[in-house]
Amino acid sequence: MKILVAVKRVVDYNVKVRAKADGSDVDLNNVKMSINPFCEIAVEEALRLREAGAATEVIAVSVGDNSCQEQIRMALALGADRGIQVQTEGPVEPLVVAKLLRAIVAREEPGLVILGKQSIDGDNNQTGQMLGALACMPQGTFASEVVLDGDRVKVTREVDGGLQTVALKLPAIVTTDLRLNEPRYASLPNIMKAKRKPLDVFTPEELGVEARAHLTLVKVEPPPERQAGIIVEDVEQLVEKLKDEAKVIS
Ligand code: AMP
Repeated sequence: MKILVAVKRVVDYNVKVRAKADGSDVDLNNVKMSINPFCEIAVEEALRLREAGAATEVIAVSVGDNSCQEQIRMALALGADRGIQVQTEGPVEPLVVAKLLRAIVAREEPGLVILGKQSIDGDNNQTGQMLGALACMPQGTFASEVVLDGDRVKVTREVDGGLQTVALKLPAIVTTDLRLNEPRYASLPNIMKAKRKPLDVFTPEELGVEARAHLTLVKVEPPPERQAGIIVEDVEQLVEKLKDEAKVIS
C-alpha cells in the first residue's frame, strides 16, 4: 500500500512574522521557511506505518513554486521514498490544493492520504476535508492515533472534551493533530541521500486542473501592540485597579 503525504512550505514556527509596510501580505523577505509542523507529523506517521510493514511506499507531495522542492527534499531526507511537486505560481487556496491532490490521488491510488490538520500560515483547516469530499474518500481528522486493521484504519480523533474513535474503509484520508507522534530529525547523510531520490514535477494543466483563485487577500495587519504593565504598591491597590479600571471584579 502506498501512503501519500501532503507537505506544505510555510514560515518556520519560530519566526515572528511581519506584515509588509503596505499591508498587502506577510513579508517573506529573508524569512526561514520550513515544512508545516502538522505535515512533519504526517510524514512521521507514514514512515512509522511503512516501518511497521503496513505500507510499501511513502510519497511526499507539495503544491507550490519551485522553492517547495526544499520541503519535499526534507521529507525525502526524513525517509519518504519519492516526491511530487505540483508546480504553481503565487498563493494557492485550499480548494485548488485539494483539486490538485485529488488528481495525484487518481494517478497514484494510495491506500492512505495523510495531511496536516492545518497549515500554520493560513490556519485554514480545509484541505483534507475538501479532498475527502472531492475524492469521495472517508476522513478521520485531528488524529491522535492511527491504527491500520485489514482494509480499515482506526483513527482516534481529538474532539472537544475528549476522544472519538472512527473506523474508515481504505482508501482513506487522515489529518494529523499535535499529539499523534514526535517527528524524527533528518541526519546529514540522509539529507545528502535525499538529493538523489526521485522527484516528479507536474503542472496543474498536466493534471487537468484549473488553478483558479476564488479568494483575494485584502489586507494583512499585525495584532495591536500590548500595553505595558504596571507594578502596584500592595494588594489593596491591586484590588482597586481590578475593580475600577479592569472591571473584572466588583
Ligand atoms: P490547510 O487546509 O491550508 O490548513 O492545510 C491543511 C493541510 O493540507 C496541510 O497541513 C498540508 O498537509 C495540506 N496542504 C495545504 N496546502 C498545501 C500545499 N500547498 N502543498 C501541499 N500540501 C498542502
